[in-house]
Amino acid sequence: MPGPRVRFAPSPTGELHVGNARTALFNWMFARHHGGRLILRIEDTDESRSALSYQLNLFDDLKWLGLDWDEGPDKEGLYGSYRQSERLDIYKNHLQRLIDSDLVYPCYCTEEELEEERQTLILSKRMPRYMGKCRNLTQEQKKQKEDEGKKPSYRFKIHSQTIEFEDLIRGAMKFEADAIGDFIVVRSNGMPAYNFAVVIDDHLMKITHVIRGEDHLSNTALQIMLYWAFGFEPPTFAHHSLILGKDRAKLSKRHGSVSIGEFRKQGILPEAMINYLGLLGSSFSDVKEVLSRDEMIAGFSLERASKSGAIFDEEKLRWINGIYIRNSQTEDLVERLRPFLAQSGYSDEVITSDKFKKVIDLVKTDFTTLAEIENHIDIFFDGRYPTAPEAVELLSKENSRNVNQAFLEYLTGNDDEPKKLYPAAMKFVKEKTGAKGKELFMPVRAALTGKIHGPELDKVFAILGREAAITRLKPFSG
Ligand code: GLU
Repeated sequence: MPGPRVRFAPSPTGELHVGNARTALFNWMFARHHGGRLILRIEDTDESRSALSYQLNLFDDLKWLGLDWDEGPDKEGLYGSYRQSERLDIYKNHLQRLIDSDLVYPCYCTEEELEEERQTLILSKRMPRYMGKCRNLTQEQKKQKEDEGKKPSYRFKIHSQTIEFEDLIRGAMKFEADAIGDFIVVRSNGMPAYNFAVVIDDHLMKITHVIRGEDHLSNTALQIMLYWAFGFEPPTFAHHSLILGKDRAKLSKRHGSVSIGEFRKQGILPEAMINYLGLLGSSFSDVKEVLSRDEMIAGFSLERASKSGAIFDEEKLRWINGIYIRNSQTEDLVERLRPFLAQSGYSDEVITSDKFKKVIDLVKTDFTTLAEIENHIDIFFDGRYPTAPEAVELLSKENSRNVNQAFLEYLTGNDDEPKKLYPAAMKFVKEKTGAKGKELFMPVRAALTGKIHGPELDKVFAILGREAAITRLKPFSG
């Protein structure tokens, strides 16, 4: 039996939101788990809101996340085009089929008339929906509207019926058609409405499973009626829960960063992003929190996905990111840091140096996003780090100056590899000044790094080396 065919069908009307990315991830994991195919379909029929730049961004973000697709606008496939704006003839033909079987009718109502109807229904405490004003227009009435130059939209004729389906995540679902007004399938500008285009495309693209957010549940009822109207077999549906903010409201800009692009800019690694999105409302058999792609694919199950909303926790995302950073090969990490480093003005020569590798090796346990890098490495490069006020205060004390003076004295008179030089110098300072513990280490740290906290001092010293240490100690000794 051929594997399942699923699709990710974004509308290119904005940046890729983490919620959409999670939908893409679910479809991808499902396809890969079952040896099926993932189709990328661009739903760009809303001309006023769609933009090519968003489309390009979308491809880029999906590739960055490592979510590859098997058919799509940029890939060969048997069922293209995979861009809705290039399928208008198909929708037109399908509209004709519904016109011919008297399942749709032209509606000439203006925006104002529809709004008035809505308000009247709301005022009388009834569910706002289209009440069918144009459903029974006579031929003459239609002709008159056409003669007036009015362009109709087309509405689907709802019949009283119960729509039931088995959702793979939510179980048995039931909707009454009576509660739904005759809905638009083709707009007056000739463009297909979402529910109409999606049914035709999912059918023609032989989609077996529609996996999407639960915000589409009510659309599914309309779509099933359209499947029936066309005589198409509906696919299996699975509606996953949405991502929520900490206040349990749907995740939106006011909660902070929400687009994949924003997290990319912060230096979240794609593996961490994918891992975290997969964990949200966990759909894995594994209880582990850090999962590789292969583990995610192997352990994925829609049936296990949570029905309730998953709260987006940026701290946890960063925590996972920190783990991925720490576990990265240093060479790879340096490559990934490159754009952030270039932004901070590090030259290629510095970035590719041996010293730089050692620096990253040392600090990679200390940061959780790539964008934080500068604050962790500036101490290793002259002229990059400010001396913190606490360090200034500490360095002005007499004890500090004595400690640093002794340290400097030892370094000036001795040369050895840093690994031996550092403990020997410390021993000398301790004996000479009587300082110990914090009083011994802090002044040296403050002089060498301008900070009172940081990575282990012997390791910092080993990277800086004797010469640089001497230069840095001089202004703070004696
Ligand atoms: N273009 C729709 C959206 O982005 C697709 C929904 C669906 O998966 O059917 O919400």
